[in-house]
Amino acid sequence: MSALRNMLARIEAARPPGGPAVHLLAVSKGQPIERIAALAAEGQQHFGENYVQEALSKIAALAGRGLVWHLTGPLQSNKCAAVARHFDWVETLDRAKLVPLLAAARPPDRPPLEVLVQVKLDDETTKSGARRVEVPDLCRLVAAEPRLRLRGLMTIPRPDPDPSVRRARFAELHRLFQSLRRDFPKMDTLSMGMSEDFELAIAEGATEVRIGTALFGPRPTKR
Ligand SMILES: *Cc1c(COP(=O)(O)O)cnc(C)c1O
Repeated sequence: MSALRNMLARIEAARPPGGPAVHLLAVSKGQPIERIAALAAEGQQHFGENYVQEALSKIAALAGRGLVWHLTGPLQSNKCAAVARHFDWVETLDRAKLVPLLAAARPPDRPPLEVLVQVKLDDETTKSGARRVEVPDLCRLVAAEPRLRLRGLMTIPRPDPDPSVRRARFAELHRLFQSLRRDFPKMDTLSMGMSEDFELAIAEGATEVRIGTALFGPRPTKR
């Protein structure tokens, strides 16, 4: 079985009965274009990239194949215009000042940019992500922009050796997602879980898992 088929089977097996569909985002940062093209040929459509410069050359090289590109790395204000022009999704929106920059740069001939608000659950000052208390206002700002579409929430919990701690964090984000959906009923995406812990995230309601190494093997280049 190919790595892709194997991963899709593991995702399916982790789904609780009656749970939502779970989409696979293949995180291809550091991976060469040929590896991405090979997965695309097998039917994988959604890819995640962390570094804007690296992503732009991949997006250009693989144009015309119907691929859907998600920014999964930190978003900087000086990169907002390029991101809004070339990506389909931003999963790492974490501050208000980026909202008008993305909206203004989204080309009129493209559909609205799909946006996830990145939430920081642990109080680590260095890590990106909006604090819980900031999330409702950020959602309101995104939802008010016609060139952006609020799709949901994303998180990267601190790696904790205790799986029950991670699982509790995923459950916490799921509760926040459910409560925000009362005000933003079109939100349909809860992006959480990576190679090490995607099964736990799916058990707690993830609708998208972001998988790199478990799909591609170790990343060839380390930044
Ligand atoms: C790199 C990365 C991933 C994939 O991580 P793996 O452990 O290789 O599966 C997922 N999400 C984000 C935000 C990442 O930066």
